[in-house]
Amino acid sequence: MIAAGIRILLIEDHQDIAELLTDYLEAQGAVVDYAGDGVTGLHLAVTKPCDVIVLDLGLPGMDGLELCRQMRQLARSDVPILMLTARDTLTDKLKGFEQGADDYLVKPFELEEVAARVAALHRRARPGGPQDEHRYADLSLNSRTREVSRNGTPIELKPIPFAILDALLRAAPNVVPRAELERAVWGDEPPDSDALRTHVAALRRAVDKPFDQPLLQTVHGVGYRLREPE
Ligand code: CA
Repeated sequence: MIAAGIRILLIEDHQDIAELLTDYLEAQGAVVDYAGDGVTGLHLAVTKPCDVIVLDLGLPGMDGLELCRQMRQLARSDVPILMLTARDTLTDKLKGFEQGADDYLVKPFELEEVAARVAALHRRARPGGPQDEHRYADLSLNSRTREVSRNGTPIELKPIPFAILDALLRAAPNVVPRAELERAVWGDEPPDSDALRTHVAALRRAVDKPFDQPLLQTVHGVGYRLREPE
């Protein structure tokens, strides 16, 4: 449902809710950063790139509305924000949107609902904007136009190698475990274990073979990653 490798910043002071949400979103393939208070949350929001922010309204230190306002007005960030709140009142909703939240969810919520809203915000966010473009070293992939290139040279990829590269680029230079890649490509019904290997080999032929520097590395027993040679 949500895009594999999507980077989510969760700002929530309620430990149990934060853990539930983190576990759930990570199981869906998201990469989750977490802050338990507003000041830490704002710091992470402006220093680390992320695709969607899930923000609790009631936070110690700086509340969610103030954090939203500072994100939009001072930091000039337009990362989509899903606001969570226990206070089910229209005024809070309106305030949230005035301060720049993009969507709103009232506690208690279903985990599936949070994931669905996050996915929708991610899809809607600035179509054609820089968030569609994933780059590492001289390699770039546009998830919207589906163009792939290295050092400006276009590369043709079939859908599965494309999906693998997309997941690797979002995580680069970190390793993506085999299971995570399989989920990113085939969802909950991965084919037999050699399928991934075959498609990675095809990806390597297209992306590395014609070029001087290989980027796609196998991390034995773990998975794959894109990394520039030392
Ligand atoms: Ca709270």
